Amino acid sequence: MSRSSPDVGEALDAAVRLPDQFDSLKSRLGKDLLMRWDDYPDVTLHKLEILARSAYLAGVYLIHNSHTAYRAEDLVRAVLECLAHSTYIASLPPLSYRRTPADRALCVELGMVKGLNDLLKKLPNDALMQDPAVRTVVAADEQAIKTLHNATGCKCTGRDDGNVAPTLKDAATAIGPPWRTLVGVYASSSTFIRLC
Ligand SMILES: [Zn+2]
Repeated sequence: MSRSSPDVGEALDAAVRLPDQFDSLKSRLGKDLLMRWDDYPDVTLHKLEILARSAYLAGVYLIHNSHTAYRAEDLVRAVLECLAHSTYIASLPPLSYRRTPADRALCVELGMVKGLNDLLKKLPNDALMQDPAVRTVVAADEQAIKTLHNATGCKCTGRDDGNVAPTLKDAATAIGPPWRTLVGVYASSSTFIRLC
């Protein structure tokens, strides 16, 4: 056991509590905990938060064990993808994107439902873990989101992981050093996943 172990342990314990501290700040926003399914961008940001939170906490728990610690690298990528999509929606200053946050959230929603529908199209019925009727439901969801998205005037086909690195680079240019590090972390994590 190295001399630094107690400090690392304390840091990991603090890292586990971080989402709770974030929750305590949420009440200041004065937002209702219940939201409509089409309450964009809040509902999209909430989905991204759930995805990011689970990946973040899973990564912290993996670091606790020396046998699993390296696999935390995989989850960094998932957290940064959620961060990039949230940054795109929020259009953090001085980044400037035309259209409203609600409009931009629909680009993310379209990418998410399109990714799921594309996956279902590829899988044969005996590889599905759900009732095959799920195909009809998800296809209808994609069409509904596509209609809402196209009504915003955007011509994109939905945001996916191909948009993540450019968004992180935009933020790094606009905001500075901490984001420049994230560009490198995302590239490293992406490569690591492909190699292992
Ligand atoms: Zn779009």
